[in-house]
Parts: sequence; structure tokens; C-alpha cells
Amino acid sequence: MPKATETTLEIDLNALTQNFKYLKSKLKPGVKFMGVVKAFAYGSDSRVIAKKLEQLSADYLAVAYASEGILLRDEGIQAPILVLHPQTVNFDKIVARCLEPSIYSPLMLQRFIAFAEANQLKDYPIHIKINTGMNRIGFAPNEVQAIADLMGSTTAVKVKSIFSHLAASEDMGNKAFTEKQLALFQESSERLIKLLCYQPLRHSLNTSGILNYPNAQFDMVRSGIGLYGFGNDAIENQHLKPVATLKSIVSQIHHIKKGESVGYNFGFVATNDTKTATLPLGHADGINRSYGKGKGFVTIHGKRAPMIGNICMDMLMVDISGIDCEEGDEVVVFGQKNTADEFAETINSISYEIITAISQRVKRIVIEDKF
Ligand SMILES: *Cc1c(COP(=O)(O)O)cnc(C)c1O
Repeated sequence: MPKATETTLEIDLNALTQNFKYLKSKLKPGVKFMGVVKAFAYGSDSRVIAKKLEQLSADYLAVAYASEGILLRDEGIQAPILVLHPQTVNFDKIVARCLEPSIYSPLMLQRFIAFAEANQLKDYPIHIKINTGMNRIGFAPNEVQAIADLMGSTTAVKVKSIFSHLAASEDMGNKAFTEKQLALFQESSERLIKLLCYQPLRHSLNTSGILNYPNAQFDMVRSGIGLYGFGNDAIENQHLKPVATLKSIVSQIHHIKKGESVGYNFGFVATNDTKTATLPLGHADGINRSYGKGKGFVTIHGKRAPMIGNICMDMLMVDISGIDCEEGDEVVVFGQKNTADEFAETINSISYEIITAISQRVKRIVIEDKF
């Protein structure tokens, strides 16, 4: 890999392939795989990731919002795409681009059926989301009869899948709660299937669910974070490889005298003569202002340089005392060695938040070995 010459997010498709294969190896025969590519594929590049997942024969893709699905259709992605959090206002776009909505309330189901009938659709695929304890979105289990009644009144839409989402699948301390959720899902989805008189797919597991609850795979699993290299668990992380590496460069070097300050509001005051580097990377690029003032570090020539002072919008400063480097040298913020989840821990965050925060301003570079 050539050295970075500006702030870039490298996207390693070899790592994606490896993670995909590892997660697939956890599945029972016949269980389908849905690759979750919401939020620009967890901050990387959803077009590139979706294309690769399609090449790898992922059965399904999922996005959060309609606009994210439209971006993929514009790119020529043909795989079925579940929209996890569609809004009524987007029904026309969803249908026009062959996206498949998650439906999570009686009112929403009524509205989608009315929309589908008005447009003379036939068996349009929808996905019924059941709330089993997360209490975010989803039908209550006691609304199953109402779902079946509405579905029985129309041929415009058809239930393609029934699903639920786990609130704490990574936390084995709350295994009992998760098992309760899974039992409720099993029971309510079975009731719905009986009333529908046909058999939609069922799915309940996210990445940690795949790793921790192998008996609850049903017909499909939905994986996001695992694809991008994080298993929410130190042992699982050894089998997974981070896809995204954030790099920057040294823009300028300063020699700060004892007593001088660096950055806005004297966020750093030198207690000794200090050598600093300024990087073209700031909170507008996704480096939270909780970093700085000694929290978080980058590596330059393999050596740690702590982030000092307040993170600016477009720049941040690091202490490079004792590091032999010059203007233009490459800087690594996080990647396959100093990983985003370790970087996240510094500010009590999680890998999910750190990687999805990398803003669109940061140039993406795709890496893939051609075999
Ligand atoms: C984001 C999301 C997922 C993916 O979760 P990971 O922990 O990233 O694997 C799965 N299902 C739903 C409903 C989601 O919102």
C-alpha cells in the first residue's frame, strides 16, 4: 500500500471477504445472510461494500432509510434490500426502486396496504417487525391477529419475512433476557404464520446474536458490525479483521516552548518544551471533541502520539516529542492494529459510533488483492 498523502479512509475488501466467510461459517446449512449496509456501510462506502457482498452472494442487504437504498439502486445493486426504518412519506420511492419496507405498526401496515392497492401492486414484499423487548420499533406480540386480519383483506402485499431485534445479544450477563426475547419471537411469529397460511422467512440475530445464540438462526441472520471487523468480544475479534483504516498526514511541525499553549482556548499548555504535529483531520471529519487533552493517540512510524488540546473542526494536534518525523509523513488513527474499538474505549464509546462518524469529506480508497 502506498503511504497516505492526505486524510483517507482505506476500505479493505479482502478483510470484508474474510469476515463474511467467518460469519457464514457460523451458520447452519440453508440459513440466509443479510448484509447490513446502513449508514454508508458503517461509515465506509455502501456502494463498494454492497457490490462486494453481492459478488460474495449475500442473500439480502439492509439499509436504515429509503435514501440509502436508492443510492444502492442508482449504483446498479440488484440484491433484495430491506429498509429497516422506512417512513410513510417515502412509500412511493421505496416501491419505485424495488426496496422492501419493514412494517412495524398497525397504522403503517394500513397505510402501506392502501398505497399498494392504489398503485395496483400484487404481492409486494414487506417485512413484519415484532417488538420482543427492545421497545424501539415493532408490533406488539398481541397485535399479530390485527396483522393477519389486515393481510387477509388484500392481495397487494405479502409478508416476505417476520423479524425481531435483540437488545443485548453481546452481553452474556443478560442471557436470560435475550432468551426471553427469542422465545417471544418464536411464539408470536409461529402464531402469525398459522394465521397467514404461508411461511415467510424468520430472522432475529445481529452479529453478536450469530456469535452467541447459534440456535436462534431461524431462516436468516442480519450482520453489520461483524462484516466490518468487530465482534463485540475480544476472542471473536481475533477472527475478524477491521475493514476501515483511517489515515492522515503531518501537515506542520511546531516546537512549543514550556508555558506556551496549543489550539483553541489554551487546551494544551506545555509543561516542558514539546514538539507537536498538526494533522488535517478534525471533528468535522468524525473525530469527536471528547478526544484531545491527552485522550486518544495516533501512530506515526509505529510510535504513539497523544492528541493534545481541543480537537478543531478541520485539524487536530498531537504530541510528537521523541518521534522522528517530518511534514507529509503518514499518520494512522485507527485500523487493523490500533483498532477502532480500542480507540472508542478511550472516550467510552463503541466501534459502531467511531466508524460511522467518519464524514463524507474524508476520501475513501478501496484496497483489494486481485487473485
Ligand atoms: C443495525 C441493525 C443490525 C446489525 O447489527 P450489528 O450488531 O451491526 O450486526 C441488525 N438488525 C437491525 C434491526 C439493525 O438495526
